[in-house]
Amino acid sequence: MARHIYVHNPFCARKCPYCDFYSITKTELCEEFYKAAVREAELIGSVISDPAGTGSISGNNDKDTIYFGGGTPTLPDSRLICELLGALRKAFNIASDAEITLEANPSSVNAEKLSECRQAGFNRISLGVQSLDDGVLKTLGRLHDSQRAIDAIGEIKSAGFSNISADLITGVPGQTVEGILSDVKTFKELGIKHISTYSLSIEEGTAFFDRYRKTIEELVPPETEREMYHRTREYLQECGYETYEISNSAIPGFRSIHNSSYWNSCEYFAIGAGAHGYIGDMRYGHRDDVASYIEEMKSITSQEYKEFIEGKKGDLKSLYAEEILSEEDKMREVPFLRLRTTEGILLDDFLRRFGVEFEEVFGQAVKTNIEKGLLERKERTLRLTRSGLDLANIVIEDFL
Ligand code: SF4
Repeated sequence: MARHIYVHNPFCARKCPYCDFYSITKTELCEEFYKAAVREAELIGSVISDPAGTGSISGNNDKDTIYFGGGTPTLPDSRLICELLGALRKAFNIASDAEITLEANPSSVNAEKLSECRQAGFNRISLGVQSLDDGVLKTLGRLHDSQRAIDAIGEIKSAGFSNISADLITGVPGQTVEGILSDVKTFKELGIKHISTYSLSIEEGTAFFDRYRKTIEELVPPETEREMYHRTREYLQECGYETYEISNSAIPGFRSIHNSSYWNSCEYFAIGAGAHGYIGDMRYGHRDDVASYIEEMKSITSQEYKEFIEGKKGDLKSLYAEEILSEEDKMREVPFLRLRTTEGILLDDFLRRFGVEFEEVFGQAVKTNIEKGLLERKERTLRLTRSGLDLANIVIEDFL
């Protein structure tokens, strides 16, 4: 069975004004944090090598994956990043053809660091470009400009990476559709294989919330934001990228296997403060607190960790069970996860997994949304229509 591991690096050089991810700028804790993460990798290793333990990593993605996300995973010294990857490969006995992704920030990479990471085994880079328009990058409060992003892509390629993803943010005040399409064109010319597009959301607790919460709809009317989404999606297609999920498009053969494992309800381990995982019936998390994470990883025994992962122990200092899923919960997660994909809900997969037809469980929600033109059935699949894509969250709510 394939194994999937998510590592959360919670450090950033500076907090971006729109960001509501867990990240801190206290980089003096990096060294200790990475030591703690190595310890957690070893703890998981001891759990999964125990035949009586949780060794049954399930899922239908056939390749192992490791994903270093954040935060800014390329901020720490490459020695720390590479040591942790080494510990993970050893503890999980990761296959040699695994997809191993490092999220990178243009302002925190250089040729030497990238080359060391490539040699350590990373084979995919997800670069947080966000935009190639300097005005948009300034509005977003990013540390890099467009030239630095383009130079970073050159350094990534020179280091030997060919599987490169880039992030784009849409719906930024002052941004134009033409600007976004021009960014996509440049990405294509630079050989970027995967593009993730995210709409800017204004979340409470961010600096943007105070700045834009009252004006965002005047600055970027919802219809403009939707036009950006659809025109970008059409243009991605014209450039040879297949959109396989609401926010993700790839040149054939370059879909993110790690992200697909989430939408396929695969189990995955999580490492690091702020990371979330899914093992057995349990969705679990690490509290957003680096200090308590470091402290806990120093003292926790492998027996305690094993009991937590098996769902036998309640909350620990930094680890907590978010939800123990019943069979009904697992069924409800299928539309929640699969309707975001262009493949949609695979009715035969659902029947195989739960022993019941999807429409026996969700008949009413299916009927209502097909009648509204938001959902369509094609042979043994159910997926969102073009109008359904704009109202994805509302459609999904009908299934919860
Ligand atoms: S670099 Fe990314 S994770 Fe860090 S503050 Fe900015 S948006 Fe958030």
